[in-house]
Amino acid sequence: MTCLHDRHAEPVLLKGLTGDNWSLADYLQRGGYRQIRRILSERMPPEEIVAEVRDAGLRGRGGAGFPAALKWGFMPKGYKGQMYLVCNADESEPGTFKDRDILRYNPHAVIEGMLIAAYAMGISKGYIYIHGEIWSVYERFEEAIAQAREAGWLGENLLGSGVAFDLHAVHGYGAYICGEETALLESMEGKRGNPRFKPPFPAANGLYGQPTTINNVETLAYVPFIMAMGGKAWAALGQGSGRGTKIFSVSGDVKYPGNYEVPLGIPFAELLALAGGTKDGRKIRAVIPGGSSSPVIPGETMLSLDMDYDAIAKAGSMLGTGGVIVLDETRCMVRALLNLARFYRNESCGQCTPCREGTGWLVRLLERIEQGDAALSDLDLLDSVASNIQGRTVCALGDAAAMPVRSFLRHFRSEFEYHIEHKRCPVAAGERV
Ligand code: SF4
Repeated sequence: MTCLHDRHAEPVLLKGLTGDNWSLADYLQRGGYRQIRRILSERMPPEEIVAEVRDAGLRGRGGAGFPAALKWGFMPKGYKGQMYLVCNADESEPGTFKDRDILRYNPHAVIEGMLIAAYAMGISKGYIYIHGEIWSVYERFEEAIAQAREAGWLGENLLGSGVAFDLHAVHGYGAYICGEETALLESMEGKRGNPRFKPPFPAANGLYGQPTTINNVETLAYVPFIMAMGGKAWAALGQGSGRGTKIFSVSGDVKYPGNYEVPLGIPFAELLALAGGTKDGRKIRAVIPGGSSSPVIPGETMLSLDMDYDAIAKAGSMLGTGGVIVLDETRCMVRALLNLARFYRNESCGQCTPCREGTGWLVRLLERIEQGDAALSDLDLLDSVASNIQGRTVCALGDAAAMPVRSFLRHFRSEFEYHIEHKRCPVAAGERV
C-alpha cells in the first residue's frame, strides 16, 4: 500500500497528488514549468542555479548522498562534444519504492528538474533509465515526455530561446545491478550491465565515452521546488541538521506502509507514528534505515535517532535511499539476514571474485545456521567472509552484501548462537525461509 503523506509541515513533491492529476495540464496548474520558463527568459547564468542547489544542501537521493551541486561541478566547462544527463530510475533496492511514485504521480517535476539541471551544466541531451519491472511507470513517463515535447518544453529550441534539450526514456529488464551508475551506462549502450572500473568517473568518461552526470529521480524532482523557493528557504524545511524534505519509504512491520514526504531530520519516532506505529503495538526489534544494504540498527537505538544523513551515520549505518524497513519483536534475525543475503547473491553480476563467490558463501553459511547444522565457529567464518568482500570489489554491491551481515552479527550475535546451540529460533516459529 502506498499513502502519500500530506499532513506534515511543507511536503512539496507529492503533496495533493492522487494518481489522476499527473498530466502536463495538471502540472502547469500547480505552477509547473514556471522555473524553467523564468530561467530561459532571464537567461539565468548557470552558476546561479548551481549556487541555489548548493545553498539548498541537496544531497543525492539514490543512496550515496553525494552533494548534487558538487557533482554537477565535475562536468567539464566549455566542452565542445556531446554531454549527457541521465536520470537513474532503476529503483530496485529492497525496501525502497519512492521513485516509482514520483514518476507515477509527478513525472513533469522530473522532466522540469532535468531541464534545469541540463541548463546549469550546458547539456542538450538526456535519458531516463527506468526499472524494467515497473512497466506502467515507464509507459506513463513516455506519455509525459510526449506531452512535454508537444508543448515545446523539449526539443531543439525551447520556447524560442535557442536552448536545446531533448529527453528519451529507456527501460532496463529488472537487474538490480543496473542501478549502479556505470552498469546503467553499459546497459544503455546495449551491453551487459556490468559496473565499470573507476576512475575514470562518468563526468569524464560516461555514456558513449562522453561527459555524463547521473542523478536520481528524487534528486532531480526537487530541483524546480528549490528554484521556486530559493535554496536557503528549501533547506530550512529540514529539521536539525537535515536540509529540505525527503521521501521515506516505510515498510515492514508497520500499520501503514507507504511513502512519507517529511522534513529531513525528523525523529524516527515521528516517522514511525506517521506510519501508524507497529502492528498490534509490538516492540521494534530492529530497523534497516536506508534500504536493504544499510547496516541494521537495534530498535531501541533507532527510537532515539533523527532521520538525517549524519545522525544515522554516527549510529553506524546510512540514510541511503530512505527505504526504512521495520522488524518487530516476532522477526527472526537469522531469517531476515538470510533473505537479504539471497537477494545480493542472486543480483551479483559475477565479474569480481569476492562478490561472486563470497555472496554464495554467505548464503550457504546462513542456511546452515538457520537449519541448525552449523557450529559456533561458523559465526566467525561468516564475519570473515563478509569482511573479505567489503571494500574489495569493483562496485558497491559487495559492500551492500557484506555490511548487513556484519551489522546483524554485531547487534544480534546471541540470537545466531541460540540457533546453533538449540537448533531452533528463539523468537519465530513456522516455516523456514
Ligand atoms: Fe559485479 Fe559484485 Fe563485482 Fe559489483 S561487486 S562488479 S556486482 S561482482
